[in-house]
Amino acid sequence: MKKVNFSAGPSILAPEVIQATSAACADFNGLSLMEISHRSKDWQKVMDETDALFKEILNIPEGYSVVLVGGGASLQFCMVPFNLLEKKAAYLNTGVWAKKAMKEAKGFGEVVEVASSADANYTFIPKDYIIPADADYFHITTNNTIYGTELHTDIDSPVTLVADMSSDIFSRPVDVSKYGIIYGGAQKNLAMAGLTFAIVKDEILGKVSRYIPTMLDYRTHISNGSMFNTPPVVPIYSAYQTLKWIKSVGGLPEMQRRAQERAKLLYGAIDESRLFIGTAAEEDRSLMNICFVMKEEYKELEAEFLEFATSKGMSGIKGHRSVGGFRASTYNAMPLEGVQALVDCMHEFEKAH
Ligand SMILES: *Cc1c(COP(=O)(O)O)cnc(C)c1O
Repeated sequence: MKKVNFSAGPSILAPEVIQATSAACADFNGLSLMEISHRSKDWQKVMDETDALFKEILNIPEGYSVVLVGGGASLQFCMVPFNLLEKKAAYLNTGVWAKKAMKEAKGFGEVVEVASSADANYTFIPKDYIIPADADYFHITTNNTIYGTELHTDIDSPVTLVADMSSDIFSRPVDVSKYGIIYGGAQKNLAMAGLTFAIVKDEILGKVSRYIPTMLDYRTHISNGSMFNTPPVVPIYSAYQTLKWIKSVGGLPEMQRRAQERAKLLYGAIDESRLFIGTAAEEDRSLMNICFVMKEEYKELEAEFLEFATSKGMSGIKGHRSVGGFRASTYNAMPLEGVQALVDCMHEFEKAH
């Protein structure tokens, strides 16, 4: 049975991306992608085109560099303060990932939590807070993968703005000029696991007084075209193919249109349902991770619905343990038909109960 992949990450990729990457693993100009030298001319071309596509699709202004490394978004939690935090940094606490980022920063200086929605189990994104003007940077998580909340606009910050965009990168047009660093793990919306991206404004680097280990210094990767050491070529190739796919179907405006269409369909079904209810505050609802539970009086049906939907091919819809219920991740590559199949399951289940 063909399954629909609603997993929060690693997650669904476009079929074109999987086909092209598989084909290159078997034959990349006569060798396998898995065995080629990253110093070969053929590979350099992939790196150059990936960099160019990143900049074109996101409309990245002059003065920014795209860094591709390993280590996941979790390593960025430490690389960001290592490179930017001299005295004080401000963080918006919107969930587990934001908290993990704060924990790492505390090893480098003072960390100010400007606001938190922890008391409400992160069901909304705080709006009223003051960013200290003397902070070295302000850190946000634009999409909270676990709780299904999302910041839908590029906010203004009086200090360097740093964003973890792991789970909503490339899902809408972004004003990159408002950010000092945008980073994320690639395995949600861009590529197979094993790759991390950082879009870095060059002029914010080199201002801290500490020694930065070579591999953790953004400047190392910028000046070596993300090939200071051996890069993860297969994940990068899958990112390259995703970028080509995004461009071919219409770029970020089209990604956003599709995301809105999918979300409208699924949130609509949740809102008019007798059994289900959404968990995130309406104005902060994520277009990427749609979280919902059974209403109190039907709570005992959750396990049964999970089993039912799974038997119909809905894969990865179990909610994160800190929210419970269900989470349908509807990333860029999710076709509308996939969401429709889940909605059909919900309707069928509701009829039977
Ligand atoms: C998945 C995720 C992470 C962690 O990414 P890793 O690459 O596994 O370290 C961090 N932040 C957000 C918002 C995520 O969704």
